[in-house]
Amino acid sequence: MTTTKTRTRKPLEPATGSVRVLRPVGTVNEDAGEVSINGQAYYLACHKTGYRLHGYDPKRQQATCYDLPLDCSGCNCPDAAYRSSRPGGGCKHRKALAALLASAKLPRPGEYKLPEAF
Ligand SMILES: [Zn+2]
Repeated sequence: MTTTKTRTRKPLEPATGSVRVLRPVGTVNEDAGEVSINGQAYYLACHKTGYRLHGYDPKRQQATCYDLPLDCSGCNCPDAAYRSSRPGGGCKHRKALAALLASAKLPRPGEYKLPEAF
């Protein structure tokens, strides 16, 4: 008799951590601020269609840039792309910005001044 071993993949844990506003939107630039997600600083730019996080990945030694829509329903980071089934609201960027939105620490469109168009 043979037994078949099934390889079980460790279930994905929800993204957890902490987020805080280092510099509120409007202080770095009219439409930009700085936040810290799990101790890593990101330049946060607000656009008409969403938010953009500019950071630096010390492990890969390269700059990162992630885009999220206004409702924080998605993110284009590798974690969101490859672990889309992660429970609990997605990657740390989504959860962090959603938490800021929920606690009114992140302005919604119209609450910050976008640069004049030319
Ligand atoms: Zn992300």
